[in-house]
Amino acid sequence: MKVLDRFGRVQLLVAAALALYGAPAAARDDEPNIPPVASLGDGVWMKGDLHLHSRHSKDSSNNSEATIIGFAEQAGFDFLAITDHDNHVEGDVAHHTWSDPEFRSDKLVLLYGAEWTTNRGHGNVFSAKPYDHQSLYDIRDARDAKILALKKKLGIHLSANHPSGKDHFGFSFDMVDSIEVWNSVIWSKNAEAVMIWDDMLRSGRKLTGRGGSDSHHGTPPSPDKAGKNSMERTANYVGTPTTWVFARSRTREGVVEALTNGRVSISANPRDPRVELYADRDGDGKMDMMMGDNAHASGKPVRFEVRLVGGDVADAVYMVRVIRNGEKFGEYEARGANPSITFEDTPDAKARSYYRVEVEGPQSAYPEVPNAMRLSGKMVGLSNPVFFNFDPRF
Ligand SMILES: [Zn+2]
Ligand SMILES: [Zn+2]
Repeated sequence: MKVLDRFGRVQLLVAAALALYGAPAAARDDEPNIPPVASLGDGVWMKGDLHLHSRHSKDSSNNSEATIIGFAEQAGFDFLAITDHDNHVEGDVAHHTWSDPEFRSDKLVLLYGAEWTTNRGHGNVFSAKPYDHQSLYDIRDARDAKILALKKKLGIHLSANHPSGKDHFGFSFDMVDSIEVWNSVIWSKNAEAVMIWDDMLRSGRKLTGRGGSDSHHGTPPSPDKAGKNSMERTANYVGTPTTWVFARSRTREGVVEALTNGRVSISANPRDPRVELYADRDGDGKMDMMMGDNAHASGKPVRFEVRLVGGDVADAVYMVRVIRNGEKFGEYEARGANPSITFEDTPDAKARSYYRVEVEGPQSAYPEVPNAMRLSGKMVGLSNPVFFNFDPRF
């Protein structure tokens, strides 16, 4: 390599400084790189559970795939991800969970997936088609960069599981598309998961928040066969919590795409109201963005609307808490037959911002899982954020 003279070094330094300090200005000129927001009308709401264990997980009991799928069909779900532990089968979920003749449904969209079970914690994989899970299992102890490269090659959606609990996701969040902010029916243990999510969002990472019951146990075949975990079935089962996606089609691809894009909210159970968050960015009185969407902030005021759809508690009064950039922005009461609230703010034209909501109130009954209501406490649902000025090339 040629040795640089003194003048050459200065030239290089100037070039480096220009690259450093010139870049933000260039990026601002270049800002229309945020793609247009997708249509609010082109889609269908679907509800499901994204974290479930069948008999193929050895820490599960009385929980065949047919039992889980049959229950979900009866209860009116639209999609499921049966995410068995992969370590119980040395990574070979393709010849266990997916090849089981019971892994089929005429009514439900069944995603391909598994719980990636590693020394550094757990993550769920979601995929619209079969993929080489064995290769992901085989490099579970590798450096994050190597795992990220494989994840991209496989074209899978990777999600951080129970990030603040036991076996928390101990990898870089740069590897994941979503984070399990609501694990199981016990809401109170999720506060730190939501804090981690807010930290990631504040740092510019557009990660979808999702739910997952992580249920492991079914009903014993007879009372004398009950084990120490059999009670779990009465409190934590399919849909506690329920994840809603606004999918462009009723297909595996539609569900995974909506999940990646963040058109997602979570309800404590499938009978609780679905939380929908919209924004009217151009001020024409019509909502033109929903949760998960990202747009330029114009510097003009934006009107937001929260709609609570469904729910079966008469005269319910819900408290809607708005979170802006990780901090509480306001609290609003929603009541009536079709509860909704609006609020207004002017997102910073020169910085990133996001708005999301949490909804507290009375739980709707979910008699198929009779002890769920009590453990969910007051938390009825939460939305993903509406984003402004998030860099899609981050
Ligand atoms: Zn786990
Ligand atoms: Zn699990």
